[in-house]
Amino acid sequence: MVDYLLMPTISDIIRLFKLRSQKKLSQNFLLDMNLTRKIVKCAGNIEGGYVCEVGPGPGGITRAILEKDVKQLNVIEKDQRFIPSLQILSDACDHKLKIYHGDVLDFDMEKLFTEAESQEWDKKSPNIHIIGNLPFNISTPLIIKYLEAISNRTGPWKYGRTKMTLTFQKEVAERMVATILNKRRSRLSIMCQHLCETHLKFVIPGTAFVPVPMIDVGVVHFVPLRTPMISQPFKIVEKVVGHVFHYRQKMIKHSVQTLFPLDMPELLEKMFAETCIDPETRPIQLSIEEFGRLCHVYAHICEQHPHIFDYDYRSKESLNEIKQFRLNRRLSRMHE
Ligand code: SAM
Repeated sequence: MVDYLLMPTISDIIRLFKLRSQKKLSQNFLLDMNLTRKIVKCAGNIEGGYVCEVGPGPGGITRAILEKDVKQLNVIEKDQRFIPSLQILSDACDHKLKIYHGDVLDFDMEKLFTEAESQEWDKKSPNIHIIGNLPFNISTPLIIKYLEAISNRTGPWKYGRTKMTLTFQKEVAERMVATILNKRRSRLSIMCQHLCETHLKFVIPGTAFVPVPMIDVGVVHFVPLRTPMISQPFKIVEKVVGHVFHYRQKMIKHSVQTLFPLDMPELLEKMFAETCIDPETRPIQLSIEEFGRLCHVYAHICEQHPHIFDYDYRSKESLNEIKQFRLNRRLSRMHE
């Protein structure tokens, strides 16, 4: 175990290595070890486990993870300036800490856990954990990337139902856990909850970070579900859910329409007829089970009309078609 009394504190590290925070990398540091320990506690029992920390920065959470006597801790950091101070920590803990300099968005995490013990998907989670005080600028694309990997059981999820404990802007965290009718209900609520048990563990006030961001931060814990609530490929779910929430305040008949060309009205009708969902419902009124029905019928339509999945209502051709369709409609009304 590392004796931190013999090590410089995180504040000393920042001063010694002149680590001025960079806004473009969303660098807001946690120097209070009580808070970094509290985040790590949310991950559950990680003793003897294999952990990957995203964005260790000066190493506050890194130290709290190492205190838990893990078997191996891998860290992925984009900013080269942090590598020397992390190296000091690695030397102090017998190289249990492995440092990777790179961008987590295109980092292949699967290779980090080859020595860990896998678990069958429907058994308990493996002792593998992903933890991180995420940079805000990449937190949403990153969680979408991880959810896709959970759905496909690839990367860290090749070894079983690997848990994650990650921070997000408080509002984003609230969207992730929002239930039906909640005003924060969004695309992220469905994408997270259909694949994971998603818990908002606690909120850290912005004032706890250095420098202080304009926002508070939520710590979210994810445990992949044994069976996803929507049994369709990730890309289908992502597309349908994304489109339904496209017009948040409007009835879903408007947003579901954007999945199909205007000259195929029978497809829109089929979506509502076969799902038995009222087209005048608003997106936040739909349950995950109802989203599942929409995805199911949409997948079926895509099987019958393979070009539909690639239909993009925002493409130049589609926008021209929409304009032409509206013009024709206006003309035919004038002649009625
Ligand atoms: N874990 C530290 C803490 O809690 O004090 C730092 C957290 S800070 C919010 C985010 C960290 O992620 C920074 O160290 C930043 O350099 C790093 N980072 C930003 N973008 C990254 C990326 N694409 N890949 C890996 N690390 C990244």
